[in-house]
Amino acid sequence: MNKIIEADIVVVGGGPAGVNAAIAAGRSGAKTVLIEKYGFIGGMSTAALVYPWMTFHTTDGKQVIKGLAQEIIDRLIAMNASPGHLRDTVGFVNTITPYHAEIYKVLAVDMLKEAGVKLLFHSFVDHVETVDNRIQSVQLTSKSGRIDVKGKVFIDTTGDADLAYLSGAPCLQGRDGDKLTQPMTMKFRMRGVDLAVVKQYMIDHPDEFYKKTPIDELANLPLSGVLGYYKHWKEANLPINRDQVLFFTGPEADEVLVNTTRVQGLDGTNVEDLTEAEELGRKQVLMVAEFMKNNLPGFEKASISSVGAQIGIRETRRIDGQYALQVDDVVQGRHFEDVIARSGYPIDIHDPSGKGVTAAWVEGDGAYDIPYRCLLPQKIENLLTAGRCISTTHEALATTRLTPSCMATGQAAGSAAGLAVKHGMQPAKIDIAELQSVLVQGGAVLK
Ligand SMILES: Cc1cc2nc3c(=O)[nH]c(=O)nc-3n(C[C@H](O)[C@H](O)[C@H](O)COP(=O)(O)OP(=O)(O)OC[C@H]3O[C@@H](n4cnc5c(N)ncnc54)[C@H](O)[C@@H]3O)c2cc1C
Repeated sequence: MNKIIEADIVVVGGGPAGVNAAIAAGRSGAKTVLIEKYGFIGGMSTAALVYPWMTFHTTDGKQVIKGLAQEIIDRLIAMNASPGHLRDTVGFVNTITPYHAEIYKVLAVDMLKEAGVKLLFHSFVDHVETVDNRIQSVQLTSKSGRIDVKGKVFIDTTGDADLAYLSGAPCLQGRDGDKLTQPMTMKFRMRGVDLAVVKQYMIDHPDEFYKKTPIDELANLPLSGVLGYYKHWKEANLPINRDQVLFFTGPEADEVLVNTTRVQGLDGTNVEDLTEAEELGRKQVLMVAEFMKNNLPGFEKASISSVGAQIGIRETRRIDGQYALQVDDVVQGRHFEDVIARSGYPIDIHDPSGKGVTAAWVEGDGAYDIPYRCLLPQKIENLLTAGRCISTTHEALATTRLTPSCMATGQAAGSAAGLAVKHGMQPAKIDIAELQSVLVQGGAVLK
């Protein structure tokens, strides 16, 4: 017989959304368990080296994501593990937020424990017990055998909507028509980079960089990100379906994080595709690093310092929930009565089959609302989602997937679950005004 663990709230997936969901749930006073397949938290942020977090602000620089996400940044700053929000020298958004992934791993566990959350690492959820459209328990497999974790409310923060899918809630994947998803990227870091040389090259060759790069201000800004080298990249003609080089600086003074490999046409929920993606991604890392060392000024003495433990996955399954956020909701900066989070990050679609990136900026006051209904699946009554797998179209996912908004929807899901447990109701029945008041007390920006 399986071992049994009982809780009020069960959060599956310890990425940025799951961490914040579990902290919020734990702080509500509910007995909370967080289940994570790796031996550390952070999801894409740590396992796939996603860096920096972007963005907490609108294009005009107004901060629209605060709350627990900002609390994490403040504590990272106090630990000398983040410089805080820096001006984005790529020019794509207003600010980006570098952080030290190894310190974030430790800090998040401290914060989870302070909130009274029980952690189960090295635990993979592969089965969900559902009766009358209510989840009774999730089953995980681990070194100590199978464990049933029972709960009243469950939160799916697996990124892949595993819990929703396994419980029978309707899910969607990819774009309309061919169902292709955004490409995967194997990220890697290089050290030994002379960033002063990189910056000077940008100032001297502005046409080789993204048109919004603030070249005029570069001399006085810390270099945070670089997008371009169009000529070098084209001439190298590497077998990678991308049209530019993208990297970010830090956390060390001679270090960059490269976001340039691209694996297309494979499904991040299919184990054979994932295996192929890991192989292709790692081969591309060697190619790109060699290209940078041999061609880009400032990289002559650089070498690879780390590669993601897994390939970065931008898009897989998402729930087909009670409302799907639409591209117009984002672009027009629409407001919703049941807003639980906001974001000013543009639509940013890395082409599922082509070379480029499609972007569209948020109009109105520069931020759009994420309604509570996007966290609620159809059919399964005691399940909430947060992060990458909430209910959106393929296009709207291209903004909600960014880490700060995943953290914000995580806080909302954890707080909603806390209220559902407190009042003995299903998440769909809680009072939205009460949820919004809890979120605002927790520092969230909803207006
Ligand atoms: C290549 C790439 C570049 C990106 N660039 C940026 C960027 O520059 N800035 C930015 O802010 N965002 C960026 N993002 C987006 C961002 O990293 C992710 O969308 C975000 O991490 C999603 O958070 P999440 O918590 O929803 O899911 P994830 O980060 O995917 O976390 C899910 C967690 O659940 C665990 N899990 C999954 N299934 C199970 C299971 N069945 N049982 C137990 N545990 C499970 C996983 O191990 C993981 O820890 C990028 C993403 C990628 C892939």
